[in-house]
Amino acid sequence: MDKIIMDTAGFLAGLENAFPRVYTTEEVIQEVKDSFSRQNLNMAISSGKISIFKPKQSSVKEAMNYIRQVRDNTLSKADVSILALALELRPCLVLTDDFSLQNVLKSMGIEYRSVKAKGSVNDVKEFQYVCEGCGKVYKHKVNECEVCGSAVVKKSKRR
Ligand SMILES: [Zn+2]
Repeated sequence: MDKIIMDTAGFLAGLENAFPRVYTTEEVIQEVKDSFSRQNLNMAISSGKISIFKPKQSSVKEAMNYIRQVRDNTLSKADVSILALALELRPCLVLTDDFSLQNVLKSMGIEYRSVKAKGSVNDVKEFQYVCEGCGKVYKHKVNECEVCGSAVVKKSKRR
């Protein structure tokens, strides 16, 4: 599996738990300020599943060259550090929702994926109703199973 690099949005979504190991930079870690995410992050860091890198100055320079080429000046210091790290860890996959970041990654030829698309938001919203007695599945809410009369419970659909 390619190395997974995460930006701030990934940590805010708690995605570090979806992978055995993730890579990021000190700048990104500092951007995670929300206390719940921070707590999860600290736990993941102490369990050793997050590798925090400081990209080399030469990688930062190379990243800046790519950024200049796409003429984007909306990128933050944390964004630049992610790009520099991606250059160092190639082949890698960067998880980010930032369009500017995705744009530069594209020009670098580095794979990326959107955090939201990867999340399970759609899955969670899809429910079905399952009989506790016989397991019959209903698409709509029913109070008791028409086959065996047991209680029917709401469950999220598993994919
Ligand atoms: Zn039933």
